[in-house]
Amino acid sequence: MIAGTWRAARSVMPPGHLDAAGCNVPSDRVLDAVVAHLRLERERGGYAAVPDLTPAKAALAALVGAAPEDVAFLESGTAAMAALLGGWRLEPGSRVGYPRTEYGSTLMLLHRLAAQRGWKPVELPVDDDGRLDPSELGAGLDLVIVSHVASHRGVVQPVGEIGARCRAAGVLLVLDVCQSLGHVDVRGAGATAYVGTSRKWLAGPRGVGFLIVPGLTPAMDAATPSLRGHLWTSQAGDPVPGAVRYESAESAVAARAGLGVAVLEHHALGPPAVHAHLADLGRTARGVLDGAGGWRVAEPLDEPSALVTLRPPPGDTAEAAAVRAAESALLVSVVPTARAPLDLREPVLRVSPPPGTPLETLHALARVLAR
Ligand SMILES: *Cc1c(COP(=O)(O)O)cnc(C)c1O
Repeated sequence: MIAGTWRAARSVMPPGHLDAAGCNVPSDRVLDAVVAHLRLERERGGYAAVPDLTPAKAALAALVGAAPEDVAFLESGTAAMAALLGGWRLEPGSRVGYPRTEYGSTLMLLHRLAAQRGWKPVELPVDDDGRLDPSELGAGLDLVIVSHVASHRGVVQPVGEIGARCRAAGVLLVLDVCQSLGHVDVRGAGATAYVGTSRKWLAGPRGVGFLIVPGLTPAMDAATPSLRGHLWTSQAGDPVPGAVRYESAESAVAARAGLGVAVLEHHALGPPAVHAHLADLGRTARGVLDGAGGWRVAEPLDEPSALVTLRPPPGDTAEAAAVRAAESALLVSVVPTARAPLDLREPVLRVSPPPGTPLETLHALARVLAR
């Protein structure tokens, strides 16, 4: 059902596309919305063509149980994280916890801000799969930053329990949902803020990221005041109400409108059905790929995600395998160690099938790995 509808919505699919976690394929309607808005800007003048993005924000916010005024559009997940952490007036000495599986640019940002502001980064213990133990959270922490699903490993963090534990202990929680929104269920996490991106599992256009900040407090401001997000009441500027304080005024409006269409399509498909389909696809892919040519799946075979990572056997590498895959018209990605510098010891091959991926594509990749 999901498979057919998802593929039917795309008149063009790159052959052998197995990189939804890198850059997914937008639907025809998403593409049309982007182009239509660009045309409207030319016909009317850009400022006269500004669309109402409230429905897009409402649809996005609904995926985590938040409200449209909690949403700010930015240029990428990285820009969203920088805007969120960069403006946050956490006290010097604040203890900021993160698992070693965190995303490379988040770690760089955190350590730089910590050095400037006297925050104390605290590495949180994880098990062999990189999974956080929620019972370890709480005592002595002020903020926890965690990716729901990492870029380099398809493990789904237990965010319901992590969120409950953080709330009970009065710990702020930033959930990076770049790899989870549109892929696995995010509702119930109850995070202070969510950081996401358009082009991955939500299959929106490139060049859009977002913040969803249901737990906005006066200590949370944009790193840089702007005429859109702040009032000229003092020279420093006071933030306007809501998450719009984080938003840049000038932007690729057409791409933001396109993301809105992608999120509405995701709602129309039914998020629970999409999540179930992708979990199935991931388990199937791991079953087909684990052991092929000696490659080993890095996460548990039955992990409910479609982000599959593989470690090379002696004598092969992720880079070489990705080249062989491309020669067979299969698009996979290599995750370099810099993506998760504290966790990855060698690059892994990432296989992330979009909805509706035929079984034959997975078998074709298994044959490539075995060569
Ligand atoms: C992709 C990704 C990001 C960064 O998002 P961009 O839009 O590429 O800046 C952050 N965290 C995780 C887990 C990601 O997969």
